Amino acid sequence: MRYEAPETVEGAATLLAGTAGDVRVLAGGTDLLVQLRSDIVDPTLIVDIKKIAETRRITEEGGGFRIGAAVTGAELKEHERLKQVWPGVVEAANLIGSTQVQGRATLGGNLCNGSPAADSVPALIAAGAVATLAGPKGRRDLAVEDVMLGPRKLALTKGEFVLSFLLPPRPPRSADAYLRFIPRTEMDIAVVGAGVNLTLDEAGTITAARVSLGAVAPRVLLVREAAQAIVGSRLDKAAQDRLEAAARAVCAPIDDKRGTVEFRIQVAGVLTRRAALIALDRARTR
Ligand SMILES: Cc1cc2nc3c(=O)[nH]c(=O)nc-3n(C[C@H](O)[C@H](O)[C@H](O)COP(=O)(O)OP(=O)(O)OC[C@H]3O[C@@H](n4cnc5c(N)ncnc54)[C@H](O)[C@@H]3O)c2cc1C
Repeated sequence: MRYEAPETVEGAATLLAGTAGDVRVLAGGTDLLVQLRSDIVDPTLIVDIKKIAETRRITEEGGGFRIGAAVTGAELKEHERLKQVWPGVVEAANLIGSTQVQGRATLGGNLCNGSPAADSVPALIAAGAVATLAGPKGRRDLAVEDVMLGPRKLALTKGEFVLSFLLPPRPPRSADAYLRFIPRTEMDIAVVGAGVNLTLDEAGTITAARVSLGAVAPRVLLVREAAQAIVGSRLDKAAQDRLEAAARAVCAPIDDKRGTVEFRIQVAGVLTRRAALIALDRARTR
């Protein structure tokens, strides 16, 4: 097994595209090293992207934020402005594992590991984040909801990797929130994860919303029907009920030791409602 740590985007893309066999990107390694040690993967080449400056920085861009794919959850939490503007995204990244894991785990790795239960992915999708991919043919942008196709299946082509994420400009009176349910207090995989991002007008009516659910289907879902259920409302009880019903309706979860199908569907509705109420509360004070 070969290990390379290129310092340029082009160098990484050339290595990834030009090497036969199983070629893997290395970011924090909190998934990849576990898989290597358990003989789940046996790559011919590992390309560590952490020496590429663009993958490691957070910058303000066009009124939004560009976050490098290899920025860790701990680094996101230390960025005061990002934490204030996108609290749901930062919270989600900091639910991953433990303090030690958060010091290594990245947004790019969380998405590209291809788990439907990945915690930061529903928050990124609710935020309307766009992933910038780099590859041998250059760069392209893809909405985060379109990157994962199914468990361990990504829309990335040979040689492509996620370079960064762009969080859009935040309108006034808007905010996000992410909640997950796990059977233990920490260090467990989400039974359900729910991300909600919404914008209010001056009267407190929701003018725009995005809702995303993790761990209830083979991929993390953007739930447009749930957003439609609350746009035009002030999230009164009737709108909350519509939101819950719409969230439940899209769930097609697995049945396992962490939760039955019925339980996951029930929890998806409850968490979506709660996340929306937190986002609403935050949006009112902005
Ligand atoms: C103890 C423990 C607890 C955990 N708890 C949680 C949890 O609560 N919630 C949760 O969601 N996850 C959890 N995880 C899983 C893991 O920590 C996260 O998925 C993490 O975000 C992975 O990021 P990483 O940078 O370590 O990825 P890596 O391990 O470096 O990479 C993961 C996969 O993505 C690929 N990859 C990485 N970066 C890129 C990129 N930029 N472009 C293309 N491909 C890329 C790699 O090739 C690999 O296949 C846990 C893991 C451990 C060990």
